[in-house]
Amino acid sequence: MKKIVIAFLLLITVLLGSCVNTPQEPPIDEPQGTENVTEENTENATEENTENAAEEETEEETEEETEEETEEETEEETENVTEAPTDPFASVRASGEEWLSWGLAAHESGKQAENLKEFFSNRTNMTYLTLYDHFFTYDKEKSVPVAEALFAFIYSEYGAEALTDLDRRCEYKTAYLKSLGLDMEYVQTKEVESFLASMDFSSNETYQYIISFDNVTYYFKDFSAGSPAQYHGFLYHNTTGLFEMIEYLKAQDFDEGLDTERAFHYYMTFDGSGYSKTVYTTGNMYINDSYSALHEAVHAMGITKHDNIWLSEGLCNYFGKSLGFNEQIAASYIQILMMAKQGYFDAQASAGNKQYLLCKQVYEGYTARGGSLDLANTFDLRLYTDVFAKAELDLNVYKTLGDAYKIVNNKDCDSIGDELSYEQATSLVAYLADTYGMEKVLEAYHTQDVESVFGKGYEALKAEWLTYLNAEN
Ligand SMILES: [Zn+2]
Repeated sequence: MKKIVIAFLLLITVLLGSCVNTPQEPPIDEPQGTENVTEENTENATEENTENAAEEETEEETEEETEEETEEETEEETENVTEAPTDPFASVRASGEEWLSWGLAAHESGKQAENLKEFFSNRTNMTYLTLYDHFFTYDKEKSVPVAEALFAFIYSEYGAEALTDLDRRCEYKTAYLKSLGLDMEYVQTKEVESFLASMDFSSNETYQYIISFDNVTYYFKDFSAGSPAQYHGFLYHNTTGLFEMIEYLKAQDFDEGLDTERAFHYYMTFDGSGYSKTVYTTGNMYINDSYSALHEAVHAMGITKHDNIWLSEGLCNYFGKSLGFNEQIAASYIQILMMAKQGYFDAQASAGNKQYLLCKQVYEGYTARGGSLDLANTFDLRLYTDVFAKAELDLNVYKTLGDAYKIVNNKDCDSIGDELSYEQATSLVAYLADTYGMEKVLEAYHTQDVESVFGKGYEALKAEWLTYLNAEN
């Protein structure tokens, strides 16, 4: 499980996205289909002819003639197929992309594309240019005309092959906006475009939108919690972050005992509890916010008992958050610390609100030690974790792992280290990894025998970490 440390993180949390749709089946590639059918027919005809010839010799001649005719016809057909002009939209039909189906249907029926200058003059509508499949369930009224117009533009300016050229698609979208007389740039990145084009969509009775990327599946009941762009951001950053995290675990040989090949099932709950969790019997993850999905994935890979809750939660946060595989997490921290810098929390902090005091103290500690607030990929998550853990202890304002466990599981925790917070457990695990090596931390995690692995027990390790924390921060 994973708790949201500060209540207003929720406000900033950029969650979920949009909808899903069952993509239209691309039409069967006709030339191939014809060849296959012809071959099958020829085989059948030959077998039947052979049987008939054996049974009824009197009809032999006729049968042979028929056979020859069949072969001749087959050859002719095959030649015709080879000579027939290739379908310029073969790659469009094979792409499985919903917007291309709509565009092609309009093109083939001779439908005139709408002029969408006024529509795109409203910048927020630019999101519709992403045209991921779920838009056609989410908002067909707006997305279909966009699909038709973009298709017509790309086809007329660059040709049919360009329609499926993911590398240049962002460029074509900007060119399309310019062609409307709008001085606007389409800002989505090529990587995100290509990635999101690989989404698969389906539906079932409980989950209207089921989105898959290879072995990672997200189940959404609806898309009421955010804008399409926010959903895209979440899906992209979480999924690529998960793949990167697994690659990292393998590259560092940290993957032994972790089920990195498993299927990851994310059920997006938003039940208001503020907690995400992994059900150990199934490995299914129930997600409440955009911060916890990688943390839960580590739980799912390393399902284990909770003799040492500080170790399992600390390790999940360390891999799932502190190593920066989901840049959105760092981006949200930067946002909060920038607010602290600009004085947004001063009034409440002066009034003694400890949550706001904590934010101010983290900002001060982080920047005093040289932490940067410039970019998500240069944000020092390790430093942030230490400073945060220290501020919590100083101000005595935090929920413990035991508190969280009780809320999620409806029973007392009774596990070693449950007096720590998530950030403290993470800071402790990071300290142990730096001091003793991640191999030992993982060995302790898998065996749950801290004493044998480190040569000392939890309390001694915690005391060492506290000395480090107080000296450094
Ligand atoms: Zn957890």
